[in-house]
Amino acid sequence: MVEQVDLDTALDVNQDMGSCHQSFETGCHNQTNMVFTYKQSTITHQKVTPMHQTSTESVEDMAALVDLHEGSIMHNLFQRYQQDKIYVKSLKSLASWLFKVPGQRLAAVGSTGYKMLLLTYIGSIVASVNPYKSIPGLYDCAAMERYSKHHMGEIPPHIFAVANECYRCLWKRHDNQCILISGESGAGKTESTKLILKFLSAMSQHSLELSCREKTSCVEQAILESSPIMEAFGNAKTVYNNNSSRFGKFIQLNICQKGNIQGGRIIDYAFYLSVPENYHYLNQSGCIADKTISDKDSFKEVITAMEVMQFSKEEVREVLRLLAGILHLGNVEFITAGGAQVSFKTALGRSAELLGLDSTQLTEALTQRSMILRGEEILTPLSIQQAIDSRDSMAMALYSQCFAWVIKKINSRIRSKEDFKSIGILDIFGFENFEVNRFEQFNINYANEKLQEYFNKHIFSLEQLEYSREGLIWEDIDWTDNGECLDLIEKKLGLLALINEESHFPQATDSTLLEKLNIQHAVQYDVRGILEKNRDTFRDDLLNLLRESSLDFIYDLFEHVSSRNNQDTLKCGSKHRKPTVSLQFKESLHSLMATLSSSNPFFVRCIKPNVQKSSRDKVDGMREDIHFQKARQMPYPSWYWLSRMNGYPRFSMKSLNGHGAVRAVVFLTIVMNSSDIGVGCLDTGSMPDQFDQTVVLNQLRYSGMLETVRIRRAGFPVRRPFQDFYKRYKVLMRNLTLPEDLHEKCAVLLRLYDNTSTEWQLGKNKVFLRESLEHKLEKQREVE
Ligand code: ATP
Ligand code: MG
Repeated sequence: MVEQVDLDTALDVNQDMGSCHQSFETGCHNQTNMVFTYKQSTITHQKVTPMHQTSTESVEDMAALVDLHEGSIMHNLFQRYQQDKIYVKSLKSLASWLFKVPGQRLAAVGSTGYKMLLLTYIGSIVASVNPYKSIPGLYDCAAMERYSKHHMGEIPPHIFAVANECYRCLWKRHDNQCILISGESGAGKTESTKLILKFLSAMSQHSLELSCREKTSCVEQAILESSPIMEAFGNAKTVYNNNSSRFGKFIQLNICQKGNIQGGRIIDYAFYLSVPENYHYLNQSGCIADKTISDKDSFKEVITAMEVMQFSKEEVREVLRLLAGILHLGNVEFITAGGAQVSFKTALGRSAELLGLDSTQLTEALTQRSMILRGEEILTPLSIQQAIDSRDSMAMALYSQCFAWVIKKINSRIRSKEDFKSIGILDIFGFENFEVNRFEQFNINYANEKLQEYFNKHIFSLEQLEYSREGLIWEDIDWTDNGECLDLIEKKLGLLALINEESHFPQATDSTLLEKLNIQHAVQYDVRGILEKNRDTFRDDLLNLLRESSLDFIYDLFEHVSSRNNQDTLKCGSKHRKPTVSLQFKESLHSLMATLSSSNPFFVRCIKPNVQKSSRDKVDGMREDIHFQKARQMPYPSWYWLSRMNGYPRFSMKSLNGHGAVRAVVFLTIVMNSSDIGVGCLDTGSMPDQFDQTVVLNQLRYSGMLETVRIRRAGFPVRRPFQDFYKRYKVLMRNLTLPEDLHEKCAVLLRLYDNTSTEWQLGKNKVFLRESLEHKLEKQREVE
């Protein structure tokens, strides 16, 4: 097989190599019967450094990587992923010395002794790579037990470690905590959320063992059971994820002084949940079954969960009946005969029956529009498309009201009587980039940008601000600000403003919107349907019909729904305007950000190793094939190959392009000490075992992972007010001659440990330390 690799597209190695002494030629290389074209480069040895041991072996904490660049971060993730170690810490976690509480029971928490030691602390960041398979023992009771007894950093990073640290922080800091989980669609946010809930529920019950063995009907279990119900209603299969959240949720757990979960609250960001193209109505996607999912079992699980959640049998039946009614409604078809006429009467009849509606009235409502003008009813026949739209908007209204009712019901079950502080867990819909991106993707991505803004603020802005406020010697670390992107969306004359403005003009169409948007900006979203979705027009006559349902359940769902902005109200001017969907969305996002801002954040970065939703195991047998196949499509860094070649030194690619990742097919001849070692390095494509480097690198880049690790490493994650520091380490200063000044007292001790002052700095009010120095001090303190 001869495969030509396009060297023109094979990247910018030339530019990247900069001033490096180099020569390039192209040619062919024959390996295992395959012929590859290659680029040959010769690099002087000064430009090539051996890969550090931390890169050839892997590290739990990315800040420990000596070669710190994109390539090493990714390689580290990959190596751990290969060993089924899917979690990696990207910075020091909490100051562990504060919290030596034995066992997971937090008997001592809340005692004032801990209060004075409160720190300014920027939450942990843990990255995880979705394994797409279950890893034995990773989340069992023994694991929960172990993580509940250790601080982050003491044992390998884990999602339970984040949950545990967050739980402990609640007591230590006496403020609300939140865990923000981000990542692309399918990266594992919802699974992480469930794991955190599982851990916190177990912590909340006094015995972990009890919580594992027995199914009690306590509030903890109710919270756990809320997941299958919400997923059943709020998730759908997409190309990215077979169980993709189509709504964002913020789960708040209220914890009482004793450490138990008293109750909670789920806030959903779910307005477009029932967009028909996602459900329409189950068979539109061409995929109605998934080998990995047993519908029968899932159904049972949901029904059991609803029972636990105290949905009465009657209520469960009503919900199922409504869903069936929607499905039949979706099968109603139309033909044209002087306006739309229903062609499939059976579906209509069944739907009407299930929804408790009069079938004639339903037929009329679907095929003609009724408006009251000056006291008189005016009937306008609808076209087929309009009839389909009215059918779909009715189904959407039924579905979203039902979903809202389910959430309300869950909240009423888990509402707490007493609370102390809360832990919030945010699981939103991940970033999406389909071939065609519409209004839904726009909102989903907007929410993700807001979350990234919050992350940036906490990790970069506030951190560096603190250093400058405290007068530390500090070289600012560059990070990618997404402010401009958010301005584009949120600012005056930004996308939201234009969409909303246009939504208020009855005459406006998608094309007029597109024109407006194009005048101001260049956007890559498909405008088709934006206005309609944004207006969320639900005709009054349809609403009135649903209110006439003979079923109390359906009547109740629509009792308090106010009529939407139909043509009449649109004309009446702004005072009668209903807020548009995107305005409501923006407001709810802003209020979410306000809640988050008053909480202490922890971050979980979920990373998708590939877009095929594959685990490593699935491809083990065919590794080599894929290996070469991929070689043609996706380049892979040369250092990976170098590191794989037995008998040759390992090299870090950092020296080759300054970034670590070469995105080209390269054949390298490395010259060391003038004697040509001639390491033949065929730089092929993506990882054989579904760790797709292009996919991963992209995620690392836009999430600012490299900068995050950098700032954590360069920074001083441990910081203590002078008084606290002195109190804590007074014991180590016993034999020292100390000056009067508190500030100087601390410095004397610190110099003793590190007289170059690389591991510490003194601010105006606080001592700033690197983790390593803190460890030394702590160890010594234990000895004393
Ligand atoms: P979306 O934004 O589309 O909602 P998501 O980030 O919430 O995506 P999940 O639904 O959590 O993604 O994960 C997708 C799938 O990946 C899961 O259904 C599961 O099969 C697998 N998965 C995720 N995390 C893990 C894990 N820790 N262990 C095993 N499998 C996992
Ligand atoms: Mg999800």
